[in-house]
Amino acid sequence: MALIVQKYGGTSVASLDHIRRVAESVAARKQKVNDVAVVVSAMSGQTDQLLEMAAKISAVPDSRELDALVATGEQVCAALMAITLNSIGCPAISLLGLQLPLVTDSVHTKARILDLQTDKLKQLFREGVVPVVAGFQGVTEEGSITTLGRGGSDTTAVAIAAALNADCCEIYTDVDGIYTADPNVCPKARHLDKISYSVMLELAGLGAKVLHSRSVELAQKFAVPLVVKSSFGSAKQTWIVNEEDIMEDSVIQGVTLERNVSKISLIRVPDRPGIAHRILSPLADAAINVDMIIQNASTDGFADFTFTIAKTDLEQATRLVEKVATEIGALEVLAANNIVKVSAVGIGIKTNPGVAAKMFKSLSSENINIEMISTSEYRISCVIEEKYGELAVRAIHLAFELEGQPGRLKER
Ligand code: ADP
Ligand code: ASP
Ligand code: MG
Repeated sequence: MALIVQKYGGTSVASLDHIRRVAESVAARKQKVNDVAVVVSAMSGQTDQLLEMAAKISAVPDSRELDALVATGEQVCAALMAITLNSIGCPAISLLGLQLPLVTDSVHTKARILDLQTDKLKQLFREGVVPVVAGFQGVTEEGSITTLGRGGSDTTAVAIAAALNADCCEIYTDVDGIYTADPNVCPKARHLDKISYSVMLELAGLGAKVLHSRSVELAQKFAVPLVVKSSFGSAKQTWIVNEEDIMEDSVIQGVTLERNVSKISLIRVPDRPGIAHRILSPLADAAINVDMIIQNASTDGFADFTFTIAKTDLEQATRLVEKVATEIGALEVLAANNIVKVSAVGIGIKTNPGVAAKMFKSLSSENINIEMISTSEYRISCVIEEKYGELAVRAIHLAFELEGQPGRLKER
């Protein structure tokens, strides 16, 4: 008998009617496969509403309390789902992160999983009860509630599937799989029946929020069969598979738009050894991830230093950087959050020099100015003005002829 972990995202559980439809399909699935564990997100919009409330009270709310606040979204949904399942004759019990427990480190709002106990889940399976786990949340060893970062319910689901050695982890969402770009931004995006863990990891890390990037990382590490499906009924789906099972015939395989980006510039920083470290180490200490970094050529012993971070870290980062700027004698600190990052993702980009030129040409043909560039083996990213983000995705997607016909991905 199979063991399946199903995860339902916010839009799939947006109302009591949605929850009922999901409950019916969970109950039907349980009849067939025996053991089903369900992971739920908060009802659509709930997490944003809770965060907005906190933002009205404070510009930099305490991160421990933010976690305690937003974790309630998933608690409500898990309990409603369990009530609904029980009401249709399918025994179910809701479980919070702290009840499993799913133990994390104490980096609030972006905690990482340290341990996941499966005893309760296994006991429930033996009793024929469906565990409904509140996604996105965990608990520290000291007992504080944590969350895994926006979109983190995917990671909860994959972690549970890995720990239970499940036959499959199914991610149900509002699209019927992975496309070459966000289909809501680029209507010509092409559906993919399969995608490799490594390309998916890049896409997810660069803004394709259809999967939380750590869920892909975990699925690859623990060889969890992972599939993305629509909870609104569609025959299509996308399997995330090993690279050997896919043969791509194009270098670029997807285009992403990352909206959660902002930048901080320090103007006229004294150009001497140790300055970059002075600026960035307080951010590292505060678990703020710095992405692109640019230091322009020094003139008269001074340089400008610019870097990008998540928009959600901007307030805290600006405070930390302003303090250092005063200490090191920089002229001023400028913070901007009207930017986005567009990326072309593929394999072997560095060995295909034409790729960067094509991407830049597609942006210039739309008159879009590039503010920052970074490249790696797997991607080229450009920071541009926010208002051009969606246009840029469509232009890059067109330039790399990604719309094509299904079948361009050939199986070996
Ligand atoms: P859920 O609430 O179910 O977790 P999300 O909103 O987190 O759903 O993720 C689904 C969304 O991801 C889609 O509605 C789509 O707009 C977006 N998305 C971004 N990039 C892609 C992509 N390459 N393929 C499919 N969906 C994508
Ligand atoms: N509810 C959380 C969010 O909106 C987690 C999730 O949906 O996966 O980010
Ligand atoms: Mg999501």
